[in-house]
Amino acid sequence: MINLLNYTLPELTDWMQTELGEPKFRAVQVWQWIWQKMARDFDAMSNVSKACRARLAETARIDWPEVARVQESSDGTTKFLLRLEDGALVETVLIPSDSREGVRRWTQCLSSQVGCAMGCTFCATGDMGFERNMTMGEILGQILVAREHLGDNRPDWPVLRNLVFMGMGEPLLNLREVMRALQSLNNDKGLNFSPRRITVSTCGIEKGLAELGASGLAYLAVSLHAPTQELRARIMPKAARWPLDQLLAALKSYPLKTRERITFEYLLLGGINDGPGQAEELARLVADIKGKLNLIVYNPAEGAPYAAPDEARVLAFEQCLWKRHITAIVRKSKGQDIKAACGQLKAASTGEI
Ligand code: SF4
Repeated sequence: MINLLNYTLPELTDWMQTELGEPKFRAVQVWQWIWQKMARDFDAMSNVSKACRARLAETARIDWPEVARVQESSDGTTKFLLRLEDGALVETVLIPSDSREGVRRWTQCLSSQVGCAMGCTFCATGDMGFERNMTMGEILGQILVAREHLGDNRPDWPVLRNLVFMGMGEPLLNLREVMRALQSLNNDKGLNFSPRRITVSTCGIEKGLAELGASGLAYLAVSLHAPTQELRARIMPKAARWPLDQLLAALKSYPLKTRERITFEYLLLGGINDGPGQAEELARLVADIKGKLNLIVYNPAEGAPYAAPDEARVLAFEQCLWKRHITAIVRKSKGQDIKAACGQLKAASTGEI
């Protein structure tokens, strides 16, 4: 039986027309029930005829990922371990932020692959290796689980505001399903996330970067983590196969909308990439690119290969960038008490950490 979460709206329309003989508007109704009203049962689709609902139930299903575990941190960060149809486990994290008026909004960190082939040396998911790509339905199913958890059912007042593809996997190595997910997210009859509410974070994959840029369907974040090719090759050996100078040249010509900037992610690893000279090199590297830097303080798990950076060095690193007119913000890790870093919950649940 077909899981309808895996169909884009044009695909659903085509399938319902050819297989069920239903008109186009019926597919739009079903699509709205699935993504906006979060129906998991065809019987709930009250504006769809009984005969059509019966035919749908015979040939299709609406299967969400199953919640295997939920952990909530003292700061509100909530991490879900999800079990997919074949038993594969992935993680997704909800991160809260409160406005000055005390209104709580959420950002969701999405996974795009089961495991990851990139093997970045600081990452728990990298340690697991690659299992498989996630389908569009599995990628978007993470959002349905989160919206249900949040009781987020008012399209005019969504509390889940932003999505970041920063969970397990390298999204640009699962380009087909990630692009289909982005197209579906952008549909105002469905989840209706505009591109400026979505960020795809990548180590930099040449072909995927060009296609994502041409689509204009999401903002871009690039994981740099080192100011030189040599150090990057040590920390992120597979990502560094696309040399740093070529990656930066591609970013210089990356198509950006007005007011859009590329976010550079830079994980500060104690004594490895957090020196004052490295801050200067980094400033030189990104000076010509319309971007901003997120400095993320490394939060070592037990047995991790790196140490947390010294607080004074973090401050000096940030100041050095500001002095060179580079926008840099130190991001505090959230959810430290629940292993909220990518891959840590799955690794803990399978006894790997
Ligand atoms: Fe993969 Fe991202 Fe982890 Fe690197 S940091 S191994 S790209 S999941």
